Amino acid sequence: MGLSKTIWSNPTEFIRNVRPENPVIFFSPSVLQAAARRFIDGFPGMVTYAVKTNPSEVVIENLAAAGVRGFDVASPGEIRLIRRLAPDAALHYNNPVRARAEIAEAVELKVKSWSVDSASELEKLIELVPADDCEISVRFKLPVAGAAYNFGAKFGATVELAAQLLKRAAEAGFIPSLTFHPGTQCTDPHAWEAYIRAAAEIGREAGVTVARLNVGGGFPNHRLQAVLPQIDETFALIDRVATEAFGDQRPMLVCEPGRGLCGDAFTHAAKVKAVRDGTHVFLNDGVYGALAELPLVGIIDRIEVVDGEGRPRQGALEIRIVFGPTCDSVDRVPGELMLDEGIAEGDYLIIHGMGAYSIATNTRFNGFGDLTIATVLSLKV
Ligand SMILES: *Cc1c(COP(=O)(O)O)cnc(C)c1O
Repeated sequence: MGLSKTIWSNPTEFIRNVRPENPVIFFSPSVLQAAARRFIDGFPGMVTYAVKTNPSEVVIENLAAAGVRGFDVASPGEIRLIRRLAPDAALHYNNPVRARAEIAEAVELKVKSWSVDSASELEKLIELVPADDCEISVRFKLPVAGAAYNFGAKFGATVELAAQLLKRAAEAGFIPSLTFHPGTQCTDPHAWEAYIRAAAEIGREAGVTVARLNVGGGFPNHRLQAVLPQIDETFALIDRVATEAFGDQRPMLVCEPGRGLCGDAFTHAAKVKAVRDGTHVFLNDGVYGALAELPLVGIIDRIEVVDGEGRPRQGALEIRIVFGPTCDSVDRVPGELMLDEGIAEGDYLIIHGMGAYSIATNTRFNGFGDLTIATVLSLKV
C-alpha cells in the first residue's frame, strides 16, 4: 500500500496528473476532523473511535488532533498501535473473547476498560486483571432491527445473563458498566432507544448502579444520496432517553463510532480495465480489495464516472454489471449499477463514503490489492 506525500486539490487533479493504474483511496483530513468535532460537540458523553474500522495512522493521528481521547480496541496489535500514536488515550478493550496471553499483554499496556458477554470470560478477567480503577462493561444484545448488518449474531449476552454478569463484576470490585452495539450503518435512531431502556432494566435487575453506558458504534455514514445520516437527531434521542430511563442514576455515556467518524472522509477510485461487450464493466478493484464491504452492507449510490482526463461523464445512465479484477465469480459489485452510458476503458469509477472497512480489509488475492492512499484538500470530483 503506497502513501503519496503530496497533498492534491481533489481526486480528479490526482487522476489527471498520475493516471493511476492501481486503485486509489483519497483521504480528506479536514472532512475527518469535522466529523470528529461533530461527535465531540454533539454527543452527550465521551467519544471514542473503533480502531478496526480504519486503522491507518493518518486516521488515528487526525482524530487525536481533533480531540478524540479514547479508542475501542480489539487486539494487542491495535492496543500497541494506539499506545504508539496516542500514548495517553484511554483504551477500551471491547472484544469480549480473549486469550490469556492477550489479557496479560493488555494489563501490561495499562488497559482499564474491558467488555464481556459470558460468565466464563468474566471469570477469566476476574482472575487475570487487577480490579483497582478498572471497568468491566457487560455487552448485551436485543432482537432489534434498523442496522445494515447485525452485530448481535456473534456477541452480546441476553438481558437476563447481563444482569448476572453486571452483579458479579461489581461484587468482584470492578467499576460496573454496560455496553451494546446496535449493528453497523444503523439508520433508525430508535434502535438506541430500545437498548438504553433495556440497560436501565438490567441495572435495576442486578441492583447495581451502572457507572457508564457505552452506546456503541453503528452511527451511519452517507452511503445513499437519498438517506442523510441523522446523527444530531440520534444524539438528542440518546440524551433524552438516557435521562428518562435512568433518572438521577444516569450513567456517564460513551460512544465508539467507527464508520460514523471515518466513512465520509475517504473516496475510492478504481480504473476501468475493460468494458466487455458493452455491458460488463471490469474494475481494477473489487470485493477482495477495498470494495469488500459492498456485498455485506449494500452498494453505495454516491458514484461518479470520470474519463482518463478526470472529466466527469454527464450522459444518460444505463444499467451495468460491475466486476472486480480477480478470477473468482463472487468478485462482483452487488446488483446492477446505473452508470454513464459512455463508460469506457481507461475511465475511473469514483465511489464516495468509502472510509470504513475498506483499507483494513483489502487483501492481495490473485496478486491485486495494491491500494494507494492519496491526501486531498477536497473530496469533490
Ligand atoms: C465494529 C465495532 C464498532 C464500530 O462500529 P461502526 O458500525 O463502524 O460504528 C464499535 N464497537 C465495537 C465493539 C465494534 O465491534
